[in-house]
Amino acid sequence: MIPLRKNIAEMAGYVPGFQPKNPQEWIKLNTNENPYPPSPQVIEAIMREIGSDGEILRQYPDAASKDARQAAADLYGFDADWLIMANGSDELLNNLIRAFANEGDEVAYVEPSYSYYSTLIEIQGAKSHTFTLDDQYKLAGFPERYNGKLFFLTSPNAPLGCAFSLDDIDDLAHRCNGMLVVDEAYADFAAENALSLVKKHENLVVTRTFSKSYALAGMRLGLAVAHPQVIAALDKIRDHYHLDRLALVAAEAALRDQKYLKQRVGEICATRDWFTGQLIALGYSVIPSQTNFVFASPADGDGQRVYELLKQHKILVRYFSDPQLSHALRISIGSREQMDAVLEVLERNC
Ligand SMILES: *Cc1c(COP(=O)(O)O)cnc(C)c1O
Repeated sequence: MIPLRKNIAEMAGYVPGFQPKNPQEWIKLNTNENPYPPSPQVIEAIMREIGSDGEILRQYPDAASKDARQAAADLYGFDADWLIMANGSDELLNNLIRAFANEGDEVAYVEPSYSYYSTLIEIQGAKSHTFTLDDQYKLAGFPERYNGKLFFLTSPNAPLGCAFSLDDIDDLAHRCNGMLVVDEAYADFAAENALSLVKKHENLVVTRTFSKSYALAGMRLGLAVAHPQVIAALDKIRDHYHLDRLALVAAEAALRDQKYLKQRVGEICATRDWFTGQLIALGYSVIPSQTNFVFASPADGDGQRVYELLKQHKILVRYFSDPQLSHALRISIGSREQMDAVLEVLERNC
């Protein structure tokens, strides 16, 4: 017998979104990747860092991510000690649990939202609690005071695409005795974000990813904004060289090219709003989205049927067998041409 910890031996492990073997043969709208390349400044920065011979790669990267951290601080209007960079926002979610929850402590998240929270909670040996949403997509049954060590609120929500209001988030921060983590993976596509609330609540953490809006899922980059004492704790427990040299220069260049970000986000939001209208014309119900995907249900409420249909046409979208979600599909917003291809299949088979 290999002497594993009991909760590790018993847990299933996270299953990431399907990545096909020959991605170029597919229209891939299942993991909310960006259809456009990252900023040309990012490519330039990476090339510059590698140089002609890659000699620099002998040397360890900056353990403090100083330049990237400063670029984020400048952008969001915080001092640098309110910010930490990360190897994907997944690293932050993991380290937040490690920093705040002992074995057996309660950690909460919304169902439906990002299923990785429950995996991370299992690894820590903490206890999961879930809150559900009512038919207005507002939190149902959240107590006047919540005593769990952490509450992960995905806003805008994935896979639904709708956002919680700032008033609601403000109120939740008051009601949480533990930490409120607002996972803002999709905030760049949304009308508002919770950054202004971070200065007001020392128990509020905002996490961001470069995987969606910045088109850098392959670089593994994220960041968090929180009170300096929270950031100092996250700084203590991370791997010291968690970001490689190429990721660091990519992050800094991406953050400093907001013009490019805004242009691409604008294109994706325009495609999203147009695509939503087209789906509604085909009889789908679509939740108004503040993200780079839509959650859309066909008139017969059979998500799996449409998933299989699109798959036959080499189009991959996300279907969830969970009975709460199986009536619909999560479709990432690709280029206008890719969404036209989706509509063409759906028009012939609605
Ligand atoms: C994509 C996503 C993440 C993961 O981001 P990475 O930076 O790629 O680790 C976290 N939370 C939500 C809600 C996401 O959709």
